[in-house]
Amino acid sequence: MSKMPRSRTKFDSAAPCPCGRAQSYGDCCGRFHRGEAAATTAERLMRSRYSAFVVLDADYLLRTWHPATRPGTLGLDPTHRWTGLDILTTTDGSAFHQAGTVEFRAHYVHEGKRGSQHEVSRFLRDDGRWSYLDGQNSGN
Ligand SMILES: [Zn+2]
Repeated sequence: MSKMPRSRTKFDSAAPCPCGRAQSYGDCCGRFHRGEAAATTAERLMRSRYSAFVVLDADYLLRTWHPATRPGTLGLDPTHRWTGLDILTTTDGSAFHQAGTVEFRAHYVHEGKRGSQHEVSRFLRDDGRWSYLDGQNSGN
């Protein structure tokens, strides 16, 4: 077996999608990451952004960040391993809304310890495209 150079953003497209939907990564969030489709709801964007953290696709995260709050650069820590996403509640955020919120809990393992991030994220839709505005930590 020869060693294949592996890009850090490469993720097996046949593997189950990290976002938790019952689809392969390639058919689910992978389509958004590759730029072949855009998320039609705030929840789908949230899921695809979570998946982008898993596959270390910082470019996608910046691309789907609202210009008003988007950081100049984004470094992702590969030792911070995201292990699951629970969508708790959503408000608005459909293809007929201009704004929406998604409350979620994202689970991770970091330095051998399990933890989770509980957040309410706000999303805006401009020109038919959803983007992430900001998030408020909800504690645990
Ligand atoms: Zn997905």
